[in-house]
Amino acid sequence: MAHEIPEKVTNVIVTGKSGAGKQPRIDVLVEKYELEQLSTGDIFRTYLGNFDNYDYDGDLSRFWNEKEDDFIPDKEIAKELGTEDSSVILGMKAKFFVEQGLFVPDRITNALFESFFGKKGYKGQVLDGYPRTLDQSKYLLNLIEEKNTDVDFILWVDSPDDLIIQRTIKRRICPECGKVFHLEYKPPDEGKCTECSTEVIQRSDDTEEKIRSRLNEFKVKTLPAIDYLRESGIPVAKVPGHLEEFTEENVRRSVLDAIEKME
Ligand SMILES: [Zn+2]
Repeated sequence: MAHEIPEKVTNVIVTGKSGAGKQPRIDVLVEKYELEQLSTGDIFRTYLGNFDNYDYDGDLSRFWNEKEDDFIPDKEIAKELGTEDSSVILGMKAKFFVEQGLFVPDRITNALFESFFGKKGYKGQVLDGYPRTLDQSKYLLNLIEEKNTDVDFILWVDSPDDLIIQRTIKRRICPECGKVFHLEYKPPDEGKCTECSTEVIQRSDDTEEKIRSRLNEFKVKTLPAIDYLRESGIPVAKVPGHLEEFTEENVRRSVLDAIEKME
């Protein structure tokens, strides 16, 4: 069943493999529907910043109860930290995992997400990076019911694995100003940043091994999360992550086409 392109939307989820090219499609949605991008990456950075600014230099493992496989109660954490500010407490919890390079458990990610989803009155957002697991999908569905809001559709930016690998391993970044290059499509100037002449580097996340592991994580964890939302009635618009001619107009048209054909 084809859909009319909706004139107004409440919230939209954008999903896809890491490196599929979500950002240009998010830009289209933000502009067309006057939405705000809510990215889990930004949420984490904000909370980690809240905690870092608080300037606590104790050992975080004291907040972890090994036997219970959980944090000690918030009350005790607050006492130890010397603040009841929930943004500092949540920031500590996020940092505890990130610092050790551990996978952040869903219940922490859910709590961080909810605090920002709430900030906008539960509408007008493009959810970027959430939900990524089945548990997160279930949490989100409860949340939208509880808050009497909606997710209109999922925009799924889809690209074949080999194209993503090809594209990502040739990515280079300027460690000084953050400008992103590509050895083929947007090469640096003899290995140097075209803005500030700093030698460009490959991010440690952009090796083939790391890329493959992220692709696998998408398949194993995120696909079931999308299926679950689709089965519960949220339509999915699938948009190609690669276009023969990558222009702003082509990106825009392909996104609107996908929305028209979603099911
Ligand atoms: Zn630079």
